Amino acid sequence: MGPVIAVDGPAASGKGTIARALAQHFGLPHLDTGALYRAVALAAARAQVATDDGPALGRLASGLDLSLLEDPDLRSADTAQRASCISACPEVRQALLAFQRDFAAQAGGAVLDGRDIGTVIAPDAELKLFVTAAPEVRARRRWLELGAAGGLAGLAAVAAEIRARDARDQDRAAAPLRMADDAILLDTTDLDKDMAVRRAIELAISRLGPAS
Ligand code: C5P
Repeated sequence: MGPVIAVDGPAASGKGTIARALAQHFGLPHLDTGALYRAVALAAARAQVATDDGPALGRLASGLDLSLLEDPDLRSADTAQRASCISACPEVRQALLAFQRDFAAQAGGAVLDGRDIGTVIAPDAELKLFVTAAPEVRARRRWLELGAAGGLAGLAAVAAEIRARDARDQDRAAAPLRMADDAILLDTTDLDKDMAVRRAIELAISRLGPAS
């Protein structure tokens, strides 16, 4: 059995970059679980299903059209907000559970990133990282990714969206964003991308040994 690496954390913390780098370093398959919730949100928006209609959202999630993972609207701010609304529905989380657990159970190991990987999807993961950064730093990163759109007003809008998403992800009853007791905290507030990736790989090697 290869190792399972769980990477959790809030929006724009750097967890996706870190998860991809760990997957590449250790030669493991990677699943961005946030993309699944975004795809359900997009399907719901297009089918005009309300973001709190649990049963209908659960049905959409069960028959999820995986081509939505390639949709250009998957990464929009609107889809991100909708994803954090629909992901509070237990029916949606339940519908996506088996796919994520199967991915984590591959014989060769896997890297998954999201909000509940270390707590719910892969509680026995060999390595759990909880990646975070100060909210204003995360907002600035996301704003720069968007080409600094809208100047300072744009930055304030991104910061407000990130605060709203953090609050929803932390306060929901179903699988809230929470650091697992046995996770290692990686605060990237003062680290650039390369430093954060290097630190994550060092932590992984110290826990799992070098890549074979
Ligand atoms: O990681 P990303 O920002 O793409 O996630 C979009 C939304 O999907 C998050 O704000 C969160 O509400 C939800 N999500 C979740 N559980 C996961 C991954 C993402 O609830 N494992």
